[in-house]
Amino acid sequence: MSDQVDTLFTRIIKREIPAEIVYEDDLCIAINDIAPQAPVHVLLIPKRQIPRLADATESERAILGHLMLVAGDISRQLGVDEAFRLVVNNGADAGQTVFHLHLHILANPKDSKQFSESDTGI
Ligand code: AMP
Repeated sequence: MSDQVDTLFTRIIKREIPAEIVYEDDLCIAINDIAPQAPVHVLLIPKRQIPRLADATESERAILGHLMLVAGDISRQLGVDEAFRLVVNNGADAGQTVFHLHLHILANPKDSKQFSESDTGI
C-alpha cells in the first residue's frame, strides 16, 4: 500500500470524480480537459503518480514512451493526427496546477493550418 495522497487525477482514475474518458488502458487514462483551451483538449495521464516530468526516473522510462505512443493513437482516434500539439507544464512557474504528470493534447481540427501557439493559453 502506498501512503501517497491521491491526486485529483488519481481520484478520476478511481471514478471518485467524474470525467469524460476518451481512452484508458492498464497504464494511463485520457480525459477531456474541463476548461478546454482548444477545440480538442485532452489530458493524457499515467496511472502512476509522477508529480512532475522532472521527477520521472529510469524506472518510468517505459511509461513515458507508452504515453507518446498513446498520444499518437488518441490523435488518430480523434482525427487530428495531421496537426496536434503536446504540452507538458513542469512546475508551478511553468503553469502546472495539478501535480500528477499529464500531457495536454491540443488540436483545432477545423482550422489546422492556422493552429499555433497563440491559440491556447497552455
Ligand atoms: P496544468 O495546469 O498543466 O497542471 O493542467 C491541469 C489541467 O487540468 C488544466 O488544463 C485544467 O483545466 C484541468 N483540470 C482541472 N480539473 C479537472 C477536472 N476535474 N477534469 C478535467 N480536467 C481538469
